Amino acid sequence: YGTATGIVVETGDGTEIGQINTLIANATILATPLTKKISEFSELLLKIILVLAGLTFVVGWLHGQPVLETFMAAVALAVGAIPEGLPAAMSIMLAIGVNKMAKRHAIIRKMPAVETLGSTTVICSDKTGTLTQNQMTVQQIFTDQDTYGVTGTGYIPKGDILFNNKKLDLQPDVQQNISSPAQFSALYETLKAGLLCNDSRLLEKEGQWKIDGDPTEAALISSALKANFNLTELDQMFPRLDTLPFESQHQYMATLHKPATESSAESENSVIYIKGSVESILKRSTTALNNQNQLTDIDSARIFKEIDRMAAKGLRVLAFARKIVPANTQQVTHETVDSQLTFLGLQAMMDPPRQEAVSAVKACQAAGIQVKMITGDHVATAAAIAKQIGLKGSVHNTAEQYAYSGHALAELSDEKLVEVAENSAVFARVTPEQKLRLVEALQSKGHIVAMTGDGVNDAPALKQADIGIAMGLGGTEVAKEAADMILTNDNFATIEAAVEEGRSVFDNLVKFITWTLPTNAGEGLVILTAIVFGLTLPITPVQILWINMTTALLLGLMLAFENKEPGLMKQPPRKPGTPIINIELSIRIITVSVLMLAGAYGLFNWAIYSHHSLETARTLAVNMFVFGEIFYLFNCRSLRFSMFKIGFFSNRWLLIGVTAMIALQVFFTHSTIMNRTFGSAPLSLSQWGAVIVSALIIYFVVDLEKRYRNRKVLQNSN
Ligand code: ADP
Ligand code: MG
Repeated sequence: YGTATGIVVETGDGTEIGQINTLIANATILATPLTKKISEFSELLLKIILVLAGLTFVVGWLHGQPVLETFMAAVALAVGAIPEGLPAAMSIMLAIGVNKMAKRHAIIRKMPAVETLGSTTVICSDKTGTLTQNQMTVQQIFTDQDTYGVTGTGYIPKGDILFNNKKLDLQPDVQQNISSPAQFSALYETLKAGLLCNDSRLLEKEGQWKIDGDPTEAALISSALKANFNLTELDQMFPRLDTLPFESQHQYMATLHKPATESSAESENSVIYIKGSVESILKRSTTALNNQNQLTDIDSARIFKEIDRMAAKGLRVLAFARKIVPANTQQVTHETVDSQLTFLGLQAMMDPPRQEAVSAVKACQAAGIQVKMITGDHVATAAAIAKQIGLKGSVHNTAEQYAYSGHALAELSDEKLVEVAENSAVFARVTPEQKLRLVEALQSKGHIVAMTGDGVNDAPALKQADIGIAMGLGGTEVAKEAADMILTNDNFATIEAAVEEGRSVFDNLVKFITWTLPTNAGEGLVILTAIVFGLTLPITPVQILWINMTTALLLGLMLAFENKEPGLMKQPPRKPGTPIINIELSIRIITVSVLMLAGAYGLFNWAIYSHHSLETARTLAVNMFVFGEIFYLFNCRSLRFSMFKIGFFSNRWLLIGVTAMIALQVFFTHSTIMNRTFGSAPLSLSQWGAVIVSALIIYFVVDLEKRYRNRKVLQNSN
């Protein structure tokens, strides 16, 4: 915190951090709990199949079959049944998902986040900047006994200070001695405190007003400029000697100034200006300044009434105070400003909700995800904004149960906290420790929690959350290091987009598995049947390799480019720990495996019985598998819907892949090189027709099954 001067000696890869980053970048592991499970599954499968293959070889050998043939059969079984492409394809699909998320401003730092995102049940989000625009404009000022209006929008310092709806003609005299009488003293001092106790700047560039620093502070500059303060003159008159920077846990900032008057400079007192949350300032104030520059008692009741009124409108209220200290004071410490402050006034600023956050919150709620606000701001301000954005607590809540302040949270027992964490929508003035408690409370109820954070102190909560989300623009490096995901635009809508992508990636992974397993099972079954019944192999090992390698790449991977399913964000989150392949999908996989087996054997035997060569018969079987996979691929484009519902042309990559695959198969069947290499043979037109028809059967069987299931779902829901 605070300010410092730095000298740049190296940039980018030349820095220590750059070197560490290169090391890290070279060691990225594309693994998630799911891909690890799949790898383990593949490995187990590999062992079983190798044992089976070994047994096959031994049995065949004992039966006195030629060694070479049994060996080939064993190899074919292994090659066919092992889903070699599965782990690799899964990683590639995850990487494509990560890439899509990056395009939508969500950077995934830890791979498992992709999967977890899909099962998120609660999102706890920051208010300022994430749910709101972080475009602060002061709209009201309260000093002495009066409330002033401030006109204008954004940071543009054009607007007026109004009193009773009439424009005030203000001419602050910064040369004036702090304690000499004047009109509007409290108002001027409040605005002056906002200017001096400030580390930000407003810049005009080609007619656009930009800020350098904190939006809250920039708003204060703008409001002071509207009262005709001269910034340069003020800075020269009140040079800053020391600073206590703003920190969330203290909720205030203080600066020490020594007025630079020509006359009797020695005797002139110094002044500390303090700005911060109303609670932190008021509890330290013992007097108040009135508009005639006199010290009075603090009318706390009046001030709190004013704060409640402002906060109920969703305004962010900042309080200002000062303390006159001896001229020789060189430093400002937390002790110095701990008591005896003079309250100057309040400035209340509007931070409008982000429009896109409103629709994103709605989308999350439709997807069965609760959205909660966690903020350092005042509880009434937070609640007002939360209502505007549409955050919902439990329906059984009373009005007070909608929003909780950190103060109230601290009083709660662990059990009560769990209940409050689940049912309330807003948590205001929370400390980083309370964020951690909230995450743990929600997790104890089985929730999958995504939580945002930006400060150094948020790191433990980010680590504890199932998905820690850091702010790319406003976040500290520490928070980013602790996070699983970073939002490059600090926008809540990005979280919703990431959840949507996460669900879609998971869906696509399931589609790929559902698509690839029947091929392997089918191939394995074909070989096994051949061995058990002592038949000729309908497909050779090289042919199986050919099928597996080409189809995984040209067909299966294209599922990664499949669009989101209709109604993806209308379903409840996936329960973690549920099997990837449910009973319905298992039945589908087994059905397709059997159809593949039947098709391949049927065509093979048909060719043999009609006295075609073994090569032709095998080519028929190979094409049966490939075309079966092509048609089944169209089934797998959606797990629930027919491909016509999701649009036949909606996945361009898949159509390109299919076209390329068909071309390759024609090449495989009809070119002499391929005939020589793979033992294939050209097919006649009627043979091609038989392949297409058998493969089409698979498509229609699966499509009918889907329709039947959808009808049942509809009937059940009626
Ligand atoms: P949030 O960003 O969630 O609103 P913060 O922890 O940043 O919460 O701020 C908490 C409170 O501290 C704010 O409500 C405000 O009253 C006060 N505050 C915020 N920024 C500043 C600042 N730059 N200087 C002084 N006080 C501030
Ligand atoms: Mg903040």
